[in-house]
Amino acid sequence: MKNTNEMEIRFESRSANEGFARVSVAAFMTQLNPTVEEVADVKTAVSEAVTNAIIHGYDSEVEKVCIRCRIEDNVFMVEVSDTGKGIENVEEAMRPMFTTKPEQERSGMGFAFMEAFMDSVEVESEPGKGTRVRMKKSIGKGREIWTTQSL
Ligand code: ATP
Ligand code: MG
Repeated sequence: MKNTNEMEIRFESRSANEGFARVSVAAFMTQLNPTVEEVADVKTAVSEAVTNAIIHGYDSEVEKVCIRCRIEDNVFMVEVSDTGKGIENVEEAMRPMFTTKPEQERSGMGFAFMEAFMDSVEVESEPGKGTRVRMKKSIGKGREIWTTQSL
């Protein structure tokens, strides 16, 4: 049987909550005994997804952002969702340097960072309904695990 665990948080789409979201996810993932780098990768990816929900999904109106985390053995999954305006063309939105807010000096690299730091990123979105970003990363890949049997 798999070793599993889950948590879910919902918070207002205020930029003051970005740090809270990042730290909450990092705290939950510590049970996987991650490296400092793995934690930093997940924090960056979560931060990009939450920022997108706040500034693009809700255009800075205050609504709710939901984060769900799930652990299955050494795989960490995190889902960031909003019920905001949604994305017309997900493939185009995920292209590096594509942004619909160039006037705000956005560089269009959020999704590219999520893809670089996580093992997989899946985006489901419907215009007028919202967006869900599902990311996965296996933790401790390169690390040796010693058991009495391997000694
Ligand atoms: P950067 O992240 O570099 O500041 P950016 O946010 O524009 O710039 P991405 O994070 O890659 O770049 O997102 C690309 C585009 O996808 C956004 O410009 C926006 O149009 C759309 N988008 C991303 N997330 C959402 C969301 N949650 N709701 C609606 N649109 C989104
Ligand atoms: Mg972004």
